[in-house]
Order: sequence, then structure tokens, then C-alpha cells
Amino acid sequence: MAKIIDGKAVAQTVRNEVARGVAEFRAAHGRAPGLHVILAGEDPASTVYVRNKEKAALEVGMEGRVHRLPASVSQAQLLGLVGELNRDPTVDGILVQLPLPAGLDAQGIVQSVAPSKDVDGLHTVSAGALWSGRPGLVPCTPRGCLRLLEHAEVRLEGARAVVVGRSTLVGKPIAGLLLERNATVTLAHSKTRDLSAVCREADVLVAAVGKRALIDASFVKPGAAVIDVGTNRDDNGKLCGDVDFAAVEKVAGAITPVPGGVGPMTIAMLLDNTLLAARARLASV
Ligand code: NAP
Repeated sequence: MAKIIDGKAVAQTVRNEVARGVAEFRAAHGRAPGLHVILAGEDPASTVYVRNKEKAALEVGMEGRVHRLPASVSQAQLLGLVGELNRDPTVDGILVQLPLPAGLDAQGIVQSVAPSKDVDGLHTVSAGALWSGRPGLVPCTPRGCLRLLEHAEVRLEGARAVVVGRSTLVGKPIAGLLLERNATVTLAHSKTRDLSAVCREADVLVAAVGKRALIDASFVKPGAAVIDVGTNRDDNGKLCGDVDFAAVEKVAGAITPVPGGVGPMTIAMLLDNTLLAARARLASV
């Protein structure tokens, strides 16, 4: 049976580390790192995510502030707010909660965030830095996946890694991080031929698709480490991943559950990114 990678516990470790870092930062600079989240509209899921981010920031001693705007907010107003936050020296991290209400150009807003404050890692400068081996902010969920693999002491150097899903937010940056760690990486997607054969070659298999039970035991090489990023609902409305956990845990060497695997890491790494951004900005002035 696979070793279960406990994302809740690892996320708590990260939060404790960040809390210590925040206390040191405050002692050195007379203020806490500041995370500012922009929420436009009242999408119920986004409202909950944003509340959780604000609460988590406050718990580690950061300044956490949410800018709540009506769904009718204009592109110009949003750009104006991002501009103000870009210029404010007490703001270290800016996160625009997606999706934005219909009619707004989300990419335009995301690309207006100063790369030095881009704690979601979604700016093209951040993505370019990752693929060029330059310092920069990396998206939170991919960083969380890497941290879980490190925690489980999975050897990445020389390993065959397959990432299923190629989104800018998840799949591509995970592939970039694994490549940086000297894994041999394959990025699979909806057009990949014979996905199960491709996945079976993986020592490290990451599923980031959004399709329940896409990955069954026949996709998994015995002993492989399996990271399940997917968040789906089963027939009873219960949260589940892309991996058929009950079947795959009998084959894999290590596996993340859903819930309790990658999910808790995302906010923990957001806090860590905010601390990193705060330190990097102050080191550069
Ligand atoms: P996305 O933008 O919809 O991307 C999904 C990717 O999966 C695409 O690259 C798509 O390929 C690929 N795909 C779709 N069907 C496939 C199939 N049958 N076989 C192989 N590949 C297939 O989604 P995302 O934003 O990357 O998110 C992926 C999942 O992770 C979702 O369930 C999301 O909810 C979850 N997620 C979880 C967290 C967390 O904190 N736990 C954070 C972010 C996302 P094409 O490019 O060819 O269309």
C-alpha cells in the first residue's frame, strides 16, 4: 500500500515557518508583509476562497486586506486599484481572485500586477522567469506539489515525470519545477495518444485535469509517486480528485489524498510567496 502524503500536516508546517518568517520581518522592518486580495463580484466559491486567504494571512501575522468590489466594476477602475497597490510600498503581494465577472479582461488585469508583487505567479514575467531559471514568483499550487514530493522524499533527479494537464496555472508550472529539479518531464493533455501508456512510464505522476477517476490503477507504474491536483465532486457531492484513490493506493509508492493532499498547500504557499515577495522587494531597494 502506498504511503499517504498528508498535505494538511505539511501545510501546517509551512504556515508555522511563514509565521516565524513574518515575526522576523516585522522585527527587522517595523511592519508585517502585506497581502492584498481583489475580489470583484459575489461568486460564492470565490467569496469563500478569499475569506480563507484573508484569515490565513492574519493567522500568520501578516497584514491581510480584501478589496471587495461590485460585479459592475469597470476594467479602468480595476486597473486603477491594481496601479495604486503596485505603487504602495506596504503592499507586498497582490492577488486578483479569478474568475472575474463577465465583461472584464482578466488577462489584462493579471498582467497589470507588478511582477515583484505577483504572488499568484500568473504574470508572463513570472512564467518566463521559471522557464529561464531566473528568480521569480511561482504559482502556489505547483509549489505546493513540489513541497509534497520533497516531504515524501521522492527522488526527482533523473526520474521520469508525467504531468497530465497543461494549464498556465497548474500543469505547465509543475512541469517547469520538475524540470528544474532534473526530472525528465512529459506534459500530457487532452490530445495525448494512449495516455495510460504514457502515464505508466512515470516515476512521478501528477494529475491536474479536473476529471474524476481519470487515472486508474492501470495508469500507474508500481511504486510511483502520485500527486492528485484535481478537485471534482463524486455522485454524492463529496470532494474527489482525478485519481481513483482506492485502486491506485494499492499500486503507488506514495499518493496524495483528496481532500487533504494538494488542496491545503495552495494557501500555505500563497503565504510563503507573500513573505518571499516582501523579502525580495526590500532586498532590492
Ligand atoms: P484547466 O485549465 O481546465 O486544464 C485542464 C487540463 O487538463 C488541460 O490542459 C486539458 O488539456 C487537460 N485535459 C482535459 N481532459 C483531459 C483528458 N481526458 N486527458 C488528458 N488531459 C486532459 O484546469 P486547471 O486550472 O489546470 O485545473 C486542473 C484541476 O486542478 C481542476 O480540477 C482544478 O479544480 C484543480 N485545481 C486544484 C487546486 C488545488 O488547490 N487543489 C488548484 C488549482 C486547480 P487541453 O489543454 O488539451 O485542453
